Amino acid sequence: MTFQPPDDAAPEPVLLVDHVSRVFPGGVTALRDVTLAIRPGELLAIVGPSGSGKSTLLNLMGTLDLPSSGRVEIGGTDITALNDKQLSTLRGRMLGFVFQQFHLTDGLTAVENVSTGLLYAGVPRRDRRSMAEAALERVGLGHRTGHLPAQLSGGERQRVAIARALVHGPALILADEPTGALDTANGESVMKLLADLNQEGTTVAVITHDRDIATQLPRRIEIRDGHLTSDTLNGATSALGQ
Ligand code: ADP
Ligand code: MG
Repeated sequence: MTFQPPDDAAPEPVLLVDHVSRVFPGGVTALRDVTLAIRPGELLAIVGPSGSGKSTLLNLMGTLDLPSSGRVEIGGTDITALNDKQLSTLRGRMLGFVFQQFHLTDGLTAVENVSTGLLYAGVPRRDRRSMAEAALERVGLGHRTGHLPAQLSGGERQRVAIARALVHGPALILADEPTGALDTANGESVMKLLADLNQEGTTVAVITHDRDIATQLPRRIEIRDGHLTSDTLNGATSALGQ
């Protein structure tokens, strides 16, 4: 007889934010008692106005910052228990980042920008270039591998950044306002690329202040003044933290 999991069995979260608060020196409370779980295969938006705590949340989700209280787990590992070296290894293997301003290195070609991401993922040097080329091919830039960032359009630069985020096969891609520096057409094509990658199995969280982008995604979490205020899945809304 084959094993039948119970109906309510959900896969273990890729990322768990558990009752997290973040108070900055000087007393600004940017996040208050935030709890959320992201499961494998999800594509979700975290949406809120400027100053609501989105980037603070992304930094905590990405182990770039630590909570003042509460816990963050990535792949079941409590990040507050890790030292800096363990954190950067976990980041390099498990996470991919996409930022509004691309954060590419000016003096490196597209393929070099992507392959540097593999340094921290523990990939041997001999494999890095072919993996970087394959990732650039995947984002439609196979013909631009030798270009410098200055020789690429904004939309192409963001595609290089997405290639760098996905080249090591991360458990989760975190994108902070990925369309914020692009015109509408390039913004739409970057969102389409992220959605296609999700269809192929990558888990993606997109942080945005743009409600039009947020409503296109299968799950939408709203943040306001450091609180999560709603979590909407397939049209069904549940109020949180009330
Ligand atoms: P968002 O990304 O939604 O625009 P942020 O997470 O950047 O918002 O900021 C949330 C709040 O925390 C804001 O009031 C901001 O001024 C404050 N804040 C963010 N980073 C710091 C910091 N390093 N030190 C002090 N206050 C900060
Ligand atoms: Mg921000």
